[in-house]
Amino acid sequence: MNDSINLKNYIREIPDFPKPGILFRDITPLLAEPAVFQEVIDRLTDYYRDKQITAVLAAEARGFIFAAPLALALGARFIPVRKPGKLPFETKAFHYELEYGTDSLEMHTDSIHSDDRVLIVDDLLATGGTISACIELAKHSHAEVVSCAFLIELSFLKGREKMNGCDVFSLIEYD
Ligand code: AMP
Repeated sequence: MNDSINLKNYIREIPDFPKPGILFRDITPLLAEPAVFQEVIDRLTDYYRDKQITAVLAAEARGFIFAAPLALALGARFIPVRKPGKLPFETKAFHYELEYGTDSLEMHTDSIHSDDRVLIVDDLLATGGTISACIELAKHSHAEVVSCAFLIELSFLKGREKMNGCDVFSLIEYD
């Protein structure tokens, strides 16, 4: 690990994207620096190394970017959660509320086992809607959700409070 790397320096802020009033945190400058991207995976691996994680679950698309290398580093299975109609095998779905309307996510029915110790990963925690849908999907399989990991946490949106007491670990915080 390299403590001298300040990850915040690699997050670009784009005002009014994708709509007015949203300050979008763009992770692509970080992804474009292999040493910094590696540092993110190293810091997450270090935190989870001794937590006996057996499956790393992430929702498309940006969650996949961090979840796949982290799963390999931890020797755990990678479980993709996708928008409806994308997964080819038998799926289970979870519907959740958005600010306006609802959305849903799907997972293959055979992807999580009841004895799994699951880590859920996403690039950014905002309101927590996406991640709480993932928690519900994992709990359907009676697996234990050990923790949720994020590169970025917008703590002023209080997404943590939706995690039902689940451990939350984030590398960059904006408050
Ligand atoms: P939420 O369900 O509200 O926690 O939103 C989380 C998802 O929306 C994450 O997967 C992010 O990719 C995306 N997201 C929400 N707000 C932002 C933001 N300000 N900048 C970049 N991505 C965001």
